[in-house]
Amino acid sequence: MWNTLVTKIDQIETMILDIPTIRGHVLSMATMRTQTAVVVVVRFSDGSEGIGEGTTIGGLSYGPESPEGIKSAIDTYIAPALIGRDADSVNAAVHLIDKLVKGNRIAKTAVEIALWDGLGKRLGVSVAQLFGGAVHERLPVAWTLASGNSETDIAEAHEMIETRRHNIFKLKIGKRSVRDDVAHVARIKQAVGDAASVRVDVNTAWSLQDARWGLKGLQDAGCELVEQPVPARYRRAMAELSSGYEIAVMADEALNGPEDALAVVSANAADVFAVKVAQSGGLKRASEVIAIGQAAGLGLYGGTMLETGLGTAAALQLFATTEHLSWGTELFGPLLLTDEILAKPIVYRDFCVEIPKGVGIGVTLDPDKIAFFRRDVGRTITAVAGE
Ligand SMILES: [Mg+2]
Repeated sequence: MWNTLVTKIDQIETMILDIPTIRGHVLSMATMRTQTAVVVVVRFSDGSEGIGEGTTIGGLSYGPESPEGIKSAIDTYIAPALIGRDADSVNAAVHLIDKLVKGNRIAKTAVEIALWDGLGKRLGVSVAQLFGGAVHERLPVAWTLASGNSETDIAEAHEMIETRRHNIFKLKIGKRSVRDDVAHVARIKQAVGDAASVRVDVNTAWSLQDARWGLKGLQDAGCELVEQPVPARYRRAMAELSSGYEIAVMADEALNGPEDALAVVSANAADVFAVKVAQSGGLKRASEVIAIGQAAGLGLYGGTMLETGLGTAAALQLFATTEHLSWGTELFGPLLLTDEILAKPIVYRDFCVEIPKGVGIGVTLDPDKIAFFRRDVGRTITAVAGE
């Protein structure tokens, strides 16, 4: 029987993990004290397994998918459609799910990563090799200063520079007035000087008028890049800001897959793409976003949804294959969490994150940690003290 040789998708298990953050992470729309990750384990008919992650930021305050919704979309719609299908054609699975499930990109991502991981493990190669091979062994990694307090942020920045962990800082702004935010950024840039690159993320909080004042002030303060200053749909405003100032304007929330990437390029609505695997709908769709950005001559940046080491490793596999990632990455998610869920943590040193070596996405889970952080075991999370 020829079809006994085909490896099939046997089982898809999902679980929600709640992991405390090391400090309050203050964003324009929410303050995070816990990060919630959806982890997927796909089991295949030959006994192999693949792992994936689909994670968002701040419940439903960042985007249209919540952790609970991600789990539900997989359990109710994606998993039943994939059980019994050929495990070795990730493309066939991606096309089928795109046909059956609209939107829900983060849910699709979690399953897709697990399929790539399983395929890589069966073939004995890394996911980077499945995407043509790595051209980087390590990538620059930014840290986000988001304590909500300038002095705390400055102390944190100095510590990161001294320990050679980060020399690129992204400041989360947009919660206070534009004037106060610009003053906060200027204080931090003045404190770190030329030892670090300072950038900001407004997470869509500004109007076009706010953004005009904001970009002018940020540029004068020595800030190099502003991420998603206005809402995602305001492409004309993004285009005006991109052409009106020297400071680089980066699209993040505006980029949900390759179709958005093309629309942003067509509208000249960004200088840089923040490429996020989860927001793109998986590694394959993220690779298409990268291709569109590259073809348009834009800068590229490896973005994060503050995934655990699992989703971070998957993103690293793809970004390792990208020729020019001129703005580096922000794949620091595991460092924001109080605990590690991988058997072997991802390595951060000399201002870079190292691409995990090994088959599949290059990492394995620590079963004790997974059991500890699973929401369905009924443990109560106590939030850490934060700003
Ligand atoms: Mg962002």
